Amino acid sequence: MVTNKVDVLLVGGGVMSSTLGTLLNKIDPSLKITLVERLDRVAHESTDGWNNAGTGHAGNCELNYTPENDKGDVEISRALDINAQFEISLQLWSSLVESGDLPTPGNFIHPTPHISFVWGKDNVEFLRQRWQKLSAHHLFSEMEFSEDPEVLHQWMPLVMNGRELNEPVAATKIAFGSDVDFGSLTRNLVDSLQKKDGFELLLSHEVQALKQAADKTWNVQLKNRVSGKSVSINAGFVFLGAGGGALPLLQKAGIPESNGYGGFPVSGQWLVCKEEEIVKQHHAKVYGKAAFGAPPMSVPHLDTRIINGTPALLFGPFAGFSTKFLKAGSSLDLMKSVRFNNLLPMMEVGVLNMDLTRYLIGEVMQSHKQRVASLKNYFPQADGKQWTLAEAGQRVQIIKKNEKGHGKLEFGTELVSAKDCTLAALLGASPGASVSVHAMIGVIERCFSTRLGQGWQDRLKELIPSYGESLVDNADLLNQVRPVVLRKLDLIND
Ligand SMILES: Cc1cc2nc3c(=O)[nH]c(=O)nc-3n(C[C@H](O)[C@H](O)[C@H](O)COP(=O)(O)OP(=O)(O)OC[C@H]3O[C@@H](n4cnc5c(N)ncnc54)[C@H](O)[C@@H]3O)c2cc1C
Repeated sequence: MVTNKVDVLLVGGGVMSSTLGTLLNKIDPSLKITLVERLDRVAHESTDGWNNAGTGHAGNCELNYTPENDKGDVEISRALDINAQFEISLQLWSSLVESGDLPTPGNFIHPTPHISFVWGKDNVEFLRQRWQKLSAHHLFSEMEFSEDPEVLHQWMPLVMNGRELNEPVAATKIAFGSDVDFGSLTRNLVDSLQKKDGFELLLSHEVQALKQAADKTWNVQLKNRVSGKSVSINAGFVFLGAGGGALPLLQKAGIPESNGYGGFPVSGQWLVCKEEEIVKQHHAKVYGKAAFGAPPMSVPHLDTRIINGTPALLFGPFAGFSTKFLKAGSSLDLMKSVRFNNLLPMMEVGVLNMDLTRYLIGEVMQSHKQRVASLKNYFPQADGKQWTLAEAGQRVQIIKKNEKGHGKLEFGTELVSAKDCTLAALLGASPGASVSVHAMIGVIERCFSTRLGQGWQDRLKELIPSYGESLVDNADLLNQVRPVVLRKLDLIND
């Protein structure tokens, strides 16, 4: 068997690997990079437009990023971080549009106001406090707040038409929010990479085994899922951007840093409406409060979407339970991920989160009528016949040991890397694709740190003007960068 030698092997054809490949190619075009994907096309798992919500997560409308602490104070630090991280994605995408590596913005990103909507006295007070704190910060200074039903009707007519106003309502709005077709973005990034020297894409190839050689490089065995033939690649650096498939691959790599990690899969479903008459009446992403006991990724929202050029409305997600780690994975994935070193944390999480499991199973068992009843909280005049159910992507939440060695369920993402910096994996799923650029810069800073001083930092700064500085702390920098980027991505008009 012939072994191909590469500098970088990217495992998985989703938004993470394609972003890392793009950054590395832009920083050092001489790198030999191979991207391997088990399916016959890229961006077909979580990154596909229909498999995620397409929200350019910026903390504008997602109420779970601004929790209330025990004293009843709204905490905004997570929303600030996510907002600043999304700005980094916007900066890279606008640089790539300018260099011709991405097509015109309308192919992958669409201006869509981000609205938070609540009803009931306590929720209105929560939203008011959230708005007061956020709008006092430069990142959110353009956030609007209203309790006036007429204003809310202008912002979101479908949500207000036919609503019984027997309790107070309120909403906040950021006009320059976005809907992102991460599938289209990723396909365009990979198309562009394919035109570069030194880049190779291997579709229908699955990574089956990884072993580190004495010289610290990785020998990676792939199987062609069409011909059944084996292929071997020797890589100086491996990135496991395999989405839900990253945990099993990390376990196969056997680095000590992977010990104790487990995965908790959560599936999802949407209600979808493609009726032109309905779709054209809503132009926003309207996020509400999660139901009591629901996991943070189950915050209900009614969204304007444009996927592969087709407008639609999506409502959900309705969470669900499946033992698969990938949508096109195997029902044995969860069982196969159990190891001696993660058995205890996984069992503890299972026992401590019975409520969550019950909630997920309850969600799966819902009838169409029950789902439409939830939809009516956001679209009172919805006609269930105009909405169909669609499967969303799979998320694998991280299980890890806490400080006391007990199992803990996490809802964020985590970069796990080998001590010698030859391999890294991205685990978890939230806030996800929106912060892919920040996450992949994290891979570069951690695993290629010696190269940063050799011109890599300067190249990053050319691509991302705020690179190396904090947009949370630096209002002047934000005011310089944001309007330019929003204009270049057609998210605001001149
Ligand atoms: C229901 C839902 C809603 C979401 N909503 C949002 C949102 O609104 N905004 C947002 O920013 N993010 C959202 N996300 C998260 C976002 O979709 C993910 O964070 C992102 O797509 C992950 O990209 P990825 O490249 O890591 O993984 P993926 O897109 O899953 O790609 C991984 C790829 O690796 C391949 N692979 C796996 N194993 C192997 C192997 N052994 N060999 C070769 N290839 C392999 C898979 O086939 C797949 O193509 C959502 C996710 C879900 C599920």
